[in-house]
Amino acid sequence: MPDVILKEISERTYDDAIAFHGHSCGGLALGYVAALYARELLDLNYSEDEEVVVITETDSCTVDAIQTILGTTAGKGNLIVNNWGKTAFTFYNRNSGKAVRLMMRPDFFKSNPEMDDLRKKVMSGTATTEESARYHELSDQRVNDILSTLGNQVYDVKEPQQPVPEKAKIFDNIICPICGESVGVARCVEAGGQKICQFCAQNKK
Ligand SMILES: [Zn+2]
Ligand SMILES: [Zn+2]
Repeated sequence: MPDVILKEISERTYDDAIAFHGHSCGGLALGYVAALYARELLDLNYSEDEEVVVITETDSCTVDAIQTILGTTAGKGNLIVNNWGKTAFTFYNRNSGKAVRLMMRPDFFKSNPEMDDLRKKVMSGTATTEESARYHELSDQRVNDILSTLGNQVYDVKEPQQPVPEKAKIFDNIICPICGESVGVARCVEAGGQKICQFCAQNKK
């Protein structure tokens, strides 16, 4: 790959995260700060392949900033999303073997009752033009506050809870005997002495 493209990739910005995610929000900013902090702690580059692996403990907007900045993506298999409702992420550098778990500090996020109230109205489509503008003003303020905060003020650095996950594998395909569709053999389940696809296993009469 030409050098110039590598450079562009390695310098992805918050604007790139917005372009991927679709909007700017507090969650995206939190994920962005986590990605930059991890990049600094583990000396990470944008992951063209599987050099970087991330396990998230949330499925929130944060995850999209991490995908954008570090190149840990659903399709490459170097992003594992656990929907556990914790703003926590474990980052692994396969090249150095180092890893950190970043957990949002319990005192970092302070809810803003005015914003929470306006969010409900905006989401349900009942906000007036003024209320909607005020909500976006507060949201932009929150984003700016987060983006101007250092990683170590937002996140506690903890030990990873598990070793680095195995690399993604490419599986052989078989034909599911129930539906007749081609399916990765390692994702099949055993039923009645044969391997069948998960859909057929779950919908078996
Ligand atoms: Zn968002
Ligand atoms: Zn099937």
